[in-house]
Amino acid sequence: MSVHTGFSRSYAEARRKFLDAARAAGATLAGFPHPTMRGSAGEELAIDVAWAGAAEARRVLLVTSGVHGVEGFCGSGAQVALLGDADLRAACAGAGVALMLVHAVNPYGFSHLRRVNEDNVDLNRNFMDFTRPLPENAPYAQIAPLLLPAQWPPSEADQAALMRSVMAKGLPWYQAAVSAGQYHAPDGLFFGGGKATWSNYTLRRILARYGAGREALRWLDIHTGLGPRGYGEPIYMGPDAAAPVARARAIWGSHVTSIHDGSSASANLTGMAWQAVPQTLPAVDYSGIALEFGTLPVTEVLEALRGDHWLHLHPEADEGQRELIHQAMWRAFYGDADDWREGVVEQVREAAGRALAGW
Ligand SMILES: [Zn+2]
Repeated sequence: MSVHTGFSRSYAEARRKFLDAARAAGATLAGFPHPTMRGSAGEELAIDVAWAGAAEARRVLLVTSGVHGVEGFCGSGAQVALLGDADLRAACAGAGVALMLVHAVNPYGFSHLRRVNEDNVDLNRNFMDFTRPLPENAPYAQIAPLLLPAQWPPSEADQAALMRSVMAKGLPWYQAAVSAGQYHAPDGLFFGGGKATWSNYTLRRILARYGAGREALRWLDIHTGLGPRGYGEPIYMGPDAAAPVARARAIWGSHVTSIHDGSSASANLTGMAWQAVPQTLPAVDYSGIALEFGTLPVTEVLEALRGDHWLHLHPEADEGQRELIHQAMWRAFYGDADDWREGVVEQVREAAGRALAGW
């Protein structure tokens, strides 16, 4: 079977392929349906969990897709490929490892072609302690009116004003201002939320249910939209400390980057999902990376996100405009080409193999 057939063009198709592949692999399935929201075609939304391996396995290799909704088209296809990989499953069994696949952590965004969830929240900025003061992102507030102009596409004058501001401060400043996360503009970009979202507490429930009592957890979280096209940048997911970074590099290679030391294409972020691990499973030996697959240049990706958020603020937009914005999101977060899909599967398999060899 070609790797391409595991990829999909809608959330419903992706979910069906994932569930079929899990059943064919003899995995145990559990679904966590969304209590209130439906998909873009009226379909049920759920986070699905497939457990392939012994129920009592001491070690777990976790692979997640769709933390950022629309990015799930990539991660879901990779998960289907892993489920169809008999050699990998045999290697897991031999190492006493269970393969745990969590499909569509943010199913609403996946179905509606949004990176954020049903609350306009970026899930990977939402794992905060909301009883404490939230970080300020003054540069975001400064640039926000230029990011979301009254009309879309922006007028030449609006676009020129934004470009002047970006030129004056530099592209890294712009990327950080927009993407680092902000907690003050609920309709804005990269909003981290004001409380834990449904996906946040459901992921914690899943980790607690499947992870309690295990010895070790390795996590591959599949993302898209940053870095060179087709390259899966392994980005360390853990606390800002030397020892766990070194550990991740020992497992996945010296090319593992970190948002803490500026080596990653990603800006430094707050409220990332990996923080659910020490909070729900404090005793587990944990190491994890995101695999961030590049698609288009960062400026085009941010442009697609501006359009998506503009549409969120302008539900009256006509069908043609809606379609153009959705197409831009699709291109920004999915490299719709055979070489890109093949590269994704190959790199996810390699990272899974390294996780198994690193125990
Ligand atoms: Zn992402």
